[in-house]
Amino acid sequence: MSKKLNMYMNGDWVESSSNETFDIINPATQEVIAIAPKATKEETEEAIKAAKRTFESGVWSYLPPQERARVLLQIAEKMEEHLNELAELEVQNNGKTKREAESDAQEAINSFRYYAGLLNMPDGQTYEYSDDMQTLIVKEPIGTAGLIVPWNFPLLMSVWKIAPALAAGNSIILKPAEITPITAVKLFELIDETDLPKGAANLLLGSGSVVGQTIAESEDVDIVSFTGSTGVGRHIMTAATGNMKKVSLELGGKSPNIIFDDADLETAVDYALYGIFLGAGQVCSSGSRILVQEGIYDKFVERYVERAKAIKVGPGNDEKAEMGAIVSRKHLESILEYVKIGIEEGANLALGGSQIKWGELEKGFFLEPTIFIDVTNCMRIVREEIFGPVVTVQKFKDEDDAIKDANDTDFGLAGAVFSNDQNKALRVIKRVRAGITWVNAYHLTNVQAPWGGYKQSGIGRSLGTYGLDEYQETKQINMNLAPKPLHWFEEG
Ligand code: NAD
Repeated sequence: MSKKLNMYMNGDWVESSSNETFDIINPATQEVIAIAPKATKEETEEAIKAAKRTFESGVWSYLPPQERARVLLQIAEKMEEHLNELAELEVQNNGKTKREAESDAQEAINSFRYYAGLLNMPDGQTYEYSDDMQTLIVKEPIGTAGLIVPWNFPLLMSVWKIAPALAAGNSIILKPAEITPITAVKLFELIDETDLPKGAANLLLGSGSVVGQTIAESEDVDIVSFTGSTGVGRHIMTAATGNMKKVSLELGGKSPNIIFDDADLETAVDYALYGIFLGAGQVCSSGSRILVQEGIYDKFVERYVERAKAIKVGPGNDEKAEMGAIVSRKHLESILEYVKIGIEEGANLALGGSQIKWGELEKGFFLEPTIFIDVTNCMRIVREEIFGPVVTVQKFKDEDDAIKDANDTDFGLAGAVFSNDQNKALRVIKRVRAGITWVNAYHLTNVQAPWGGYKQSGIGRSLGTYGLDEYQETKQINMNLAPKPLHWFEEG
């Protein structure tokens, strides 16, 4: 029997009144592993009201920062005790490898610890604008935060929002993606065992069109923080205009990975594999466009294809698997459609392009690592986010040419440069219009650094001190230290 999932509202586990449910599938086997409710609009409004009441009561929002930090550390501690279980659940529900899931869970724990640490630092500013007048600049929570997350990092994306939002003193409503709610449910079971006041954290399970839309439109939500596709992000921005709530958007990408002739070939090849095939390419910051200088192009392609061929694709719970499954049949079909488009557009398929249909893998949604070469910037496979293990490789002449192609995109999430000339590498990476970048590396980052995109890859920044700012209002308090009449208007 599949486990029936419930929602967490105002400190209690509740069943949805709706008879409609989602089957939650293991993408490596297509087994139904859980049944999730489709919450109604009314239930969503109820959870928002609970969060708002809790915020206004001050039980969490007015708690001294050290006290809030103590609770965040409790959550981190509980997660650490259950790290293996969290990772296994993520593998079952999302299809990623155990190694990837463990790393996500560890990063999630680090996020709670980091924001707990920030709460123990002095904050705010002062300004003396005359002998008697002093300005205090202070930060306050925004209020009720609606957090909407995607399926590619179900646990980590949830925590990237929950940790700073709670640290700042907000009350939250989390909505995981409909197909990957399992680790969020486990996380809330752990949160339930801590001293977090009832109603400060609420979990809703359901569709984007009902639960997500209601959160985005609600006049009782003060900030909507969304991670997902650029299309839905645009929709959320419009829905949020009713009460002019703050909007924080982490959206899609089509990131360039620029490799110069003078790069160390083995290093560039290795990171270019990691850049796209980590998470089977279902990573927003993936280096899905590889740009290689003409002098090294043939050698690069030969070695890159050779290495990609050797990637072991398999179920995430198989220790030997290096690349896991595609999250759903629908998504697999969308990726295969792009492969077809690429071939029709005249790109050369150098590797892969098909679903793997042999042995155990036939049961699940597994794709071959796929490499298109000799592509140009006008092709759809170069312009649109495919969000799978499909990479395009194109040639450039010089620095200007590389920059032109790299920036010829609606997105601006990530990018990398490989070169042994550090001056050139820095010069080029500074000209790449993207928020998350690397020199001679890919994907390596940390919770201390701000995460977010330029252009249509988003608005605002997660993580670091910037991530806390997203969930705070800033107030000026002007203090008269020697009160006496101003006499702007004179008597008589
Ligand atoms: P998606 O946009 O389809 O869904 C994301 C979330 O939005 C889900 O919870 C979904 O239920 C909800 N949603 C859908 N319609 C909605 C609506 N009308 N109103 C409110 N909520 C709605 O994205 P996805 O397919 O789950 O995730 C993949 C996308 O996420 C990719 O584009 C990827 O680049 C992006 N992503 C970005 C980052 C980042 O940090 N920039 C990180 C991870 C994923």
